[in-house]
Amino acid sequence: MRLTLLWQAHTNLPNIIYDMNREMIGMPAGSMSRLAKQRWIVSSLASLAMGGALSAATPAMAETVVLRDFTLIDGTGHAPLAHQALVMTNGRITWVGSAAAVKVPAGATVEKLAGKYLLPGLIDSHVHLGLVDGITQDLKYQTPQSINAQLATYAAYGITSVQALGTEKDFVFSMQAAQKAGRPDRARIFTVGQGVVFKGSYGGVPGLDQKVSTPAEARRMVDAQAAKGADMIKLWVDDEFGSLPDRMPASISSAVIDEAHRDHKKAVAHIFYRDNLEELMREGINGFAHTVRDQPMSRQDIATMKAKGVWQMAATLSREASFTYATLPFLNDPFFSRGVTPQVLSELGSAQRAQKLRSSPTFPKYPQVLRLAMQNFAAEAKAGVSYGMGTDSGPSARFPGYFAHWEMELMVKAGITPMQAIVAATSSNARFIGAKDIGTVAPGKWGDLLVLDANPLTDIRNTRKISAVFIAGKPVRTIWQTCAGRPADACGRQP
Ligand SMILES: [Zn+2]
Repeated sequence: MRLTLLWQAHTNLPNIIYDMNREMIGMPAGSMSRLAKQRWIVSSLASLAMGGALSAATPAMAETVVLRDFTLIDGTGHAPLAHQALVMTNGRITWVGSAAAVKVPAGATVEKLAGKYLLPGLIDSHVHLGLVDGITQDLKYQTPQSINAQLATYAAYGITSVQALGTEKDFVFSMQAAQKAGRPDRARIFTVGQGVVFKGSYGGVPGLDQKVSTPAEARRMVDAQAAKGADMIKLWVDDEFGSLPDRMPASISSAVIDEAHRDHKKAVAHIFYRDNLEELMREGINGFAHTVRDQPMSRQDIATMKAKGVWQMAATLSREASFTYATLPFLNDPFFSRGVTPQVLSELGSAQRAQKLRSSPTFPKYPQVLRLAMQNFAAEAKAGVSYGMGTDSGPSARFPGYFAHWEMELMVKAGITPMQAIVAATSSNARFIGAKDIGTVAPGKWGDLLVLDANPLTDIRNTRKISAVFIAGKPVRTIWQTCAGRPADACGRQP
């Protein structure tokens, strides 16, 4: 027993210190594994006091966690299974099955989850990291610290992986590499590096613009991202409602897509216009990071997507929905307000902000943009086009985590089932990203898990009833244990 605890202390040290800090600043510890955490803290203090106890000679005993008695929604779309259990060894799932059949290994931490629903951690396939301080957007805020804080927020909402789409500086690759080398305690990063933007057109962010003018420049840009280790290649084809002089021409987009494929990467595009969807499909695009929003897609468009296996990797309905409000409708929802500071809440609620948004020339366009986005997404889903779940959160007032739950709600409103929304956000996103060890609850996968107090299949809004979140087998702070910018008890209890 003592050896086990010492081993746990050894392997969980960063997390323990994080937990200890959390305790010190008065944040409530996760209700699920309070006992385990206390044990780790006590044993780590004991080990530190002993000095030198944490040596390479520590026996290689496995850290084992058993979760049991939950209803399993495994992310594949299979019907839910009651009275299930799973075993996690060193952060990976090693066994899943009936709670009646589970063999609890000696020394395992056991958590009983009767009445709860267990899902794979959610994946957001379209985010931008570290772009803001509060709701002020500026690339100068993009630091490892700001990105780490956002990844913790995603995790608090049960979003255990994110696909960043093209506005991150190169240090994000080392953050990703560090995560891959260990067991992250916040959302996993996947990244395209910097996306390809055509000079004079829409895309990217000021300060990170690497705008290309020729096919040769475009190919070099793609090769540079691939060489850094980009998970896929992103391009933007848009002119922001015609306000910019150009969109990326076919000569450039075809070069980007061809070069991405030569580098064995998928190419994914920001689009707005239906004619660009058609052109990009002729050029071999693999996925779209937004829906068509200028007109309804034709039956032929949808048939082509399906025939060519082109994905609607993200529909970003929450993005379009957010632009239809002068004042966002959820400022008083504790599921939202716990995640942002009082300063941000007051800025979002200000009359001046509402007035400014209302008087913007694009503001009146968005109700129709949202309608078309939902209609086109629904038509694709109905026809059997493959789709993921993605929000485009990260830019100003598009909030990490909260938007993913809003996105799934809007996807269901558009016409898919809660089960389909969950599959999109888990196994489908993992498949499109090419991440083989996340996205379902099965042996061999990471223990990235979302535990809910209510059934999300009867009401998709039940994904907000978060009981616990695990990343690589360890519990992380949830949104219901968060009270941003305030004392820990200032947000009250989970309703
Ligand atoms: Zn985006």
